[in-house]
Amino acid sequence: MSDRHDQYLEALGIPVWKLRVPPGATAPPLEAGAPLEVVGTQLVAGAAAAPAAMGWDELAATVRACTKCALHTTRTQTVFGVGRRNADLLVIGEAPGADKDRQGEPFVGRAGQLLNSMLRAIGLPRSEVYIANILKCRPPNNRDPQPDEARTCTPYLARQIALVNPRAILAVGRIAAQWLLQTDVPIGRLRGRVVPYGEAGTPLVITYHPAYLLRSPLAKAAAWTDLCLVKDLLRKPQ
Ligand code: SF4
Repeated sequence: MSDRHDQYLEALGIPVWKLRVPPGATAPPLEAGAPLEVVGTQLVAGAAAAPAAMGWDELAATVRACTKCALHTTRTQTVFGVGRRNADLLVIGEAPGADKDRQGEPFVGRAGQLLNSMLRAIGLPRSEVYIANILKCRPPNNRDPQPDEARTCTPYLARQIALVNPRAILAVGRIAAQWLLQTDVPIGRLRGRVVPYGEAGTPLVITYHPAYLLRSPLAKAAAWTDLCLVKDLLRKPQ
């Protein structure tokens, strides 16, 4: 491991000796009969709706004006997504929090800074990835998204996934992971492996939400192993 990576790990608060999966390690395969083998059709396949034909500008304008669920009444502004629109890596979270609602950008504040550090640790500056949420509007008091809200908003995310067409997806947090895979399997069992996602079979890796990592720093070592899976996927020749 390079000195640079060691520095990033220090920034993440991860002692180097704690690493359990070195960069370049292969992803644990899904076991035959494991619960993840039967996770639904996944949302991309089922999210055929009007946004499916839109380009970036039309999609962004449609989201900005969206009143399809009750969250439009309490938002300050929509939080569409940010980053390189042809990125190799797409990061998906659950919904904007208060900071994001104010600033109109996903993953800002302390959790956003930790996410940036996590991405830098695998050699990806924030500007090189695309970051989006399942919901484009903040749920009041940062409550969990409700299924009808997520269902209504998902066609926008599905179109973003199709437009970015990433080489890998990183889902951060339980809610994003469970919604994307349409499962209630706990995140501790979802993370640490690669799951083919959607009709394109895009490799999906799940890890803990940076806000959780701020509260539970011991989980950072596991998050690092997940990031190593992403790094490994992006290294593979296309
Ligand atoms: S959360 Fe999504 S569906 Fe609901 S109003 Fe906002 S953009 Fe529209």
